[in-house]
Amino acid sequence: MSTLHRTLTAPGLVLLVGTLFIVTDAVAQSAWKQHDMNRPRPSVVAPPAQSLPVPAPADALVLFDGSDLSQWEATDGTPTRWEVADGAMISVAGAGYIQTKQAFGDVQLHVEWAAPVPVQGSSQGRGNSGVFLMGLYEVQVLDSYENETYADGQAAAIYGQYPPLVNAARPPGEWQTYDIFFRRPRFNTSGGLLEPARLTVVHNGIVVQNNAELWGPTNWLQSLPYEPHPDKLPLAIQDHGNPVRYRNIWVRELPEHYPQPPADAYSEAAVTLSTETLDRYVGKYGVWEVRRESDRLQMNFYGPLFLDLIPHSPTRFSLKHTAGTVEFDLDADGSPTGATFYLGGSTYPVKKIN
Ligand code: MG
Repeated sequence: MSTLHRTLTAPGLVLLVGTLFIVTDAVAQSAWKQHDMNRPRPSVVAPPAQSLPVPAPADALVLFDGSDLSQWEATDGTPTRWEVADGAMISVAGAGYIQTKQAFGDVQLHVEWAAPVPVQGSSQGRGNSGVFLMGLYEVQVLDSYENETYADGQAAAIYGQYPPLVNAARPPGEWQTYDIFFRRPRFNTSGGLLEPARLTVVHNGIVVQNNAELWGPTNWLQSLPYEPHPDKLPLAIQDHGNPVRYRNIWVRELPEHYPQPPADAYSEAAVTLSTETLDRYVGKYGVWEVRRESDRLQMNFYGPLFLDLIPHSPTRFSLKHTAGTVEFDLDADGSPTGATFYLGGSTYPVKKIN
């Protein structure tokens, strides 16, 4: 549904494939040019105190626990020259990006980082690094504490695309948290974009990106469109020449789909009962009432709301949209004496009152 909605509101509608899959060629870009210093800087919000480090959930994969870089390598697959000291891994100027040996798609990612002290440089030259989802989509890391730079390049910006909603930076040297919720882009088998990448980012406990739709991989100086890529790619962290420290990095892979029901989950056939037969069911059952509306029965399970009962036999009826059933007790003449309503694992037996 979200894809449909997106497409209806986006200018990039180019193709309908059947009735289910809708392909867009682009997510609308910001009207701002990249890195415009006139773009308003987000307001500063002092982040709340946090209890750090944040423990990893039981099903998380710990990518860095402060001890070694066994989960990481240089982007060419050779051992990284990043350093580990005092429970942190440190970006080494000239060592290049570091990436995970394992590839990931949709993830929840927790990262703790600290900008260098003493402070050196300014703007993009001060505590610059970055967390790259799939190696392509950067959540900017920068010392944004009293450090003016362009809005779409400050800490927690989706670099060159979306400034953070607020500036929640802590002072340099203090540990900061990113909790990143990433949904990878979807491509069809022809390479067309089905869904853009989406990012939600919580910086030091404050939401700073709220389901932002990326219009392509993040870039400097240019704006590149999506190109189809594998469903899983390594996470990467940027070496931008500044000794930014990282610790306590963990990731949870997220399922890409909700489980679908089996094909035969709701295949029980409906039967047709005559209006004369249906009229036998009409009446009060405990707090509920059954009535006939045209050729079908309805029951008010909640307040004045009457829901259709779909007959599967003279005793068994189901609801259309909810996995609830009503089993009627019939006497020797086939007239109901009571009913049992099954919903959500609970059972509600009622007697027919009149
Ligand atoms: Mg960066």
